[in-house]
Amino acid sequence: MPGTDPPLTLADLHALPVTRLKGVGSKKAEALAAAEITTVLDLLTHYPRRYIDRTREATIAALAVGEEGMVLAEILRVDSRRTRNRRTMVTVVVSDGTGRLTLTFFNQPWRERQLRVGMQAVVFGKLELYQGTRQMTNPIVDLIGDRTGRIVPVYPQSDKAGLHTWELAGWVGDALAKAAPRGFAEPLPAAVLERFGLVDRGTALAGIHEPATMQDVAQARRRLVFDELLRIQLLLVLRKRAVEASARGVAHDVGGRFLARLVGALPFPLTAAQRRVIDEIVSDMASPVPMHRLLQGDVGAGKTLVAVAALLTAVEGGHQGALMAPTEVLAEQHRLAVGGLLGGFTVPDATTLLGERELRVALLTNRTPAADRRRILAELAAGGIDIAIGTHALIQEGIEFAALGLVVIDEQHRFGVDQRAALRDKGVGRAVPDVLVMTATPIPRTAAMTVYGDLDVSVLDELPPGRTPIATEWVHTVGGAGDEVVWDSVRRAVGSGHQAYVVCPLIEESDKLQVASAEETFELLRGGELADVGVGLLHGRLASSDKDQVMTRFRAGEIDVLVATTVIEVGVDVPNATVMVILDADRFGIAQLHQLRGRVGRGGSASICYLVGDGATPDAQERLSALERTTDGFELAEVDLELRGEGTIMGVAQKGRNDLKLASLRRDKEWVAHTRALAFELVDASPHLADHPELLAEIDLLLDDDEADYLLKS
Ligand code: ADP
Ligand code: MG
Repeated sequence: MPGTDPPLTLADLHALPVTRLKGVGSKKAEALAAAEITTVLDLLTHYPRRYIDRTREATIAALAVGEEGMVLAEILRVDSRRTRNRRTMVTVVVSDGTGRLTLTFFNQPWRERQLRVGMQAVVFGKLELYQGTRQMTNPIVDLIGDRTGRIVPVYPQSDKAGLHTWELAGWVGDALAKAAPRGFAEPLPAAVLERFGLVDRGTALAGIHEPATMQDVAQARRRLVFDELLRIQLLLVLRKRAVEASARGVAHDVGGRFLARLVGALPFPLTAAQRRVIDEIVSDMASPVPMHRLLQGDVGAGKTLVAVAALLTAVEGGHQGALMAPTEVLAEQHRLAVGGLLGGFTVPDATTLLGERELRVALLTNRTPAADRRRILAELAAGGIDIAIGTHALIQEGIEFAALGLVVIDEQHRFGVDQRAALRDKGVGRAVPDVLVMTATPIPRTAAMTVYGDLDVSVLDELPPGRTPIATEWVHTVGGAGDEVVWDSVRRAVGSGHQAYVVCPLIEESDKLQVASAEETFELLRGGELADVGVGLLHGRLASSDKDQVMTRFRAGEIDVLVATTVIEVGVDVPNATVMVILDADRFGIAQLHQLRGRVGRGGSASICYLVGDGATPDAQERLSALERTTDGFELAEVDLELRGEGTIMGVAQKGRNDLKLASLRRDKEWVAHTRALAFELVDASPHLADHPELLAEIDLLLDDDEADYLLKS
């Protein structure tokens, strides 16, 4: 009996195979499956790539030479031939009544079969004038079939699989018509729809697929984007709350005396950002909920000081702290920096005459001699050492702490699940230590909310005053001349007592080639442009004692110019170095270039970074000019996200983000923030989302199985 069936949920749509739709036989079902569409839900979430508004497209006559434009036209003629160098060339003439246009396709022989006389096509490309003919080369073409209506959706189609946009539109239309009697279930409370001005789900699905106006599309998109982002945020917030509920943390006794003393002894005031971030961390530490916070801050923003403030807070409250770096060299550098800040602090000790002793810091790496190591381990277990500095081995090798209360992890993108588990093991029978992860590779705030959504994020978005900004110059090598300026500048820097780095071309395919390229560059420079200065070579294949020796000599000023591979990317700190030359800079990503550049500008003198490269692709040009324009890591991160899309960020960080079909972390920034706030509101008002089984079911259905399992079934 119609009308008594409940509205369709996403799960219902997922249970309907596409073969239930009119015109989907086994052949088409196969083609759809190749495009990963097997259910009606897949089909309804296969959204149009764009829309053609028939009343608003430009006419061929109105197109200007040299500009991009989109026209709707009919195909008049199709010819195919081979060029002299054996490429196929398909030439198509189209017309829209105002004029004619020739489309030229190279190396796309299938166009001859695809494009037939009489078809309507939407053509997008740049208008050129070639031997008096108006033409476009390799334009984007969408066949729209014989469609009526003012707004025509264009679906991502697969020419290979033989799926056409008008077929997809037809099946979607059939699905929507079949669903109409029951309607679509609405998982969001009416109050939420009202608050955010959202249309209901049925209206959204109709509006995205069969809009009457572009206004319909905008409204539909808004709702569907909201759903995608809300599902992710709900998952992250559920996970965050689950982690918090499953473990007891340390409620640090935060006195503030140590902090005041640390700050009082500094030769400079804290930046406002440092003060804000330290407050955030200290209040997390005071709470019994385990802290899991990410500190983002550009190179040189002063993260070390924040780490020390947190470590001291833990020690003052009677706990131990651990600081972990990704490499031994960095751990040693930290030992020096931290040690310098901690002189003169004392902690209570009942076993001594005065009832107190000096605060003790120990460095523990693979190079620590066995006897020292044994002693340090014993004292960590007995509580005689307050702060341990080392590599990740510190928590991974079953080292015993008497009262570990805080772990600070430097320079790591992600504190993984394994490491989290290792920490939890440390907490057997006791509380789980607080965790602060620091990263110098900023990602935009909204992306952070998603990628690191189960962490709290603090941002050091202010550099200490008085820095001389690093000038950056992109040096084109096309047509020569360029790099003389560079070597001249290196020689002048050395002449005035400074030092320089030269980073060799990145060769991703092979470490061996990379080393070869570094050796070659080294020989070339030593025998040529830099014959009169002291040049050293550093790469990953050197024995670690050789590496140490090169670095020590560079630090001591015995080497003027260090030719290196990207091994210098992280952490190397030689304030006397003022010139950075990056060869074949095209090949590096924005984040990497920014990190490399951060190796200079660490002292008081003006520094310069030369990016040597031609800007072989439009993307490379954007990257290099962005670096020239700004030294702000967050701004660069935005550009990076813009250029590379969210895929890359999501890809490395986590699985289970395949539900983002419409939403963009760039365009939909404000919605990321809104949905995150709403997710907290919903989960905190209804733990485990018990009052919203429909939302839970959708998360379970649409997000990565492992992640959803973890939350929903544990
Ligand atoms: P990061 O680890 O964020 O790259 P560091 O902690 O190494 O940065 O700090 C870089 C330099 O800035 C250090 O020499 C440090 O002493 C200095 N510094 C940190 N905070 C301040 C401040 N508030 N004012 C002036 N200098 C600061
Ligand atoms: Mg705490």
